[in-house]
Amino acid sequence: MYPDQNSRSAGLYKKACRVMPGGNTRSGVFHDPYPIYVANGSGARIVDVDGIEYLDFTNNGSALIHGHVHPAIVDAVTKQVQKGASFASSTEIEVQLAEFLSSRVPSIEHIRFTNSGTEAVMMAIKAARAYTGRPKIAKVEGAYHGSYDYAQISLDSSPENWGEDIPASVPASRGTPQGVLADVIILPFNDTEKARQILASCSSQLAGVLIDPVPNRAGLIPASHDYLSMLRDFTRQSGAVLILDEVITFRLGYGGVQGKCGITPDLTTLGKIIGGGFPVGAVGGNAAVMSVFDPSRGKPAVPHDGTFNANPVTMAAGLAAMELMTPEVYDRLDMLGERVRSDLNEAFALSGQLGQVTGVGSLFKIHMKKTQITDYRSAYPSQDQIRRFDNLYQYLLNHGVLIPSGPRVSSLSTVMTDQDLDHLQQTVLAGLR
Ligand code: PMP
Repeated sequence: MYPDQNSRSAGLYKKACRVMPGGNTRSGVFHDPYPIYVANGSGARIVDVDGIEYLDFTNNGSALIHGHVHPAIVDAVTKQVQKGASFASSTEIEVQLAEFLSSRVPSIEHIRFTNSGTEAVMMAIKAARAYTGRPKIAKVEGAYHGSYDYAQISLDSSPENWGEDIPASVPASRGTPQGVLADVIILPFNDTEKARQILASCSSQLAGVLIDPVPNRAGLIPASHDYLSMLRDFTRQSGAVLILDEVITFRLGYGGVQGKCGITPDLTTLGKIIGGGFPVGAVGGNAAVMSVFDPSRGKPAVPHDGTFNANPVTMAAGLAAMELMTPEVYDRLDMLGERVRSDLNEAFALSGQLGQVTGVGSLFKIHMKKTQITDYRSAYPSQDQIRRFDNLYQYLLNHGVLIPSGPRVSSLSTVMTDQDLDHLQQTVLAGLR
């Protein structure tokens, strides 16, 4: 049973603490008193170093849309590794993945690859500044966009510092320069009128608006069409760049969320599923804005380098993963997602515990509260809700089901079955009782 100080995971954590701060190199995977250490995965399941198997609803932060060790991806990667892992040269497979993504997303005329979603967002923000010659970026309160200073502002603000009427620019990292805080404008989520007023007050300084259309930390509910249209209209009129962060939401539709909602951003950031489980990110969009990266006519407005950008192993894995994503596969994932949300909401109702499950398509999130969730503030958990969620997390862990601990998003993979979802519902119900 977790926690067990005699387990191999606990032992590895003790060793890790000697060589890494808090034994950790990725804050989100830490769990008190120690995280489990994974030995291997296959399909929808992973096995930890103590030989315990879990049904995996983390899918590495939603990146593994086909679960673990998918044969088509293993095959593509194996063939590529035998030809070479990375070169300081362009490769054919990078052109193929670029063509593939551009053909699925009409707003992506030109694209560049990075090694993470963080870098993709960073390059998008830099492109917006270079293209407009303006300094400020607006983002939604509580929304997560990776670890770039500007993208982190107000990521984890709290009732003590989030401000009354107008959301405050709150640093996530100690030491964030004042200049960064001053250049990041925070918008309330889905409050179209208030967001418009805030944008209007800084429009001549505004380089871009960064928006995730289903921001996990703002409750994992979709941005309303009204809200997105206002952001589109406002940025178009004021000359700012609209950046749609589809690092997670690209798994929600054949052409991402933008393919469904009819909003055409100037730039899109991608990551996660387009790398087939390997490190990846991409920024793409309208050719005029993307030309800030163009090195063919001398020094580009925004120099963009990276030893592993578009490395062929990631490109091969990504193309193999994405080619499997046909419209029928998205439809099936959507159906499974509907089922999970209704199953788990039913489990809350049957157990008598306060809670609800939000999400869209193959993404879901458990909240230990019944009150309506509309944004970051209404999703913000109390200490008691955090404690009850931890209890449920630990119960699931001890009964072979892994969901993300803390505020991260749960996700489905294409290899999951109805039996897997039965198991999830039964275990959650037992855990709530
Ligand atoms: N944007 C969004 C919406 C994300 O959810 C994430 C990561 N979960 C990122 C950007 C950053 O991606 P990465 O972890 O690959 O740096």
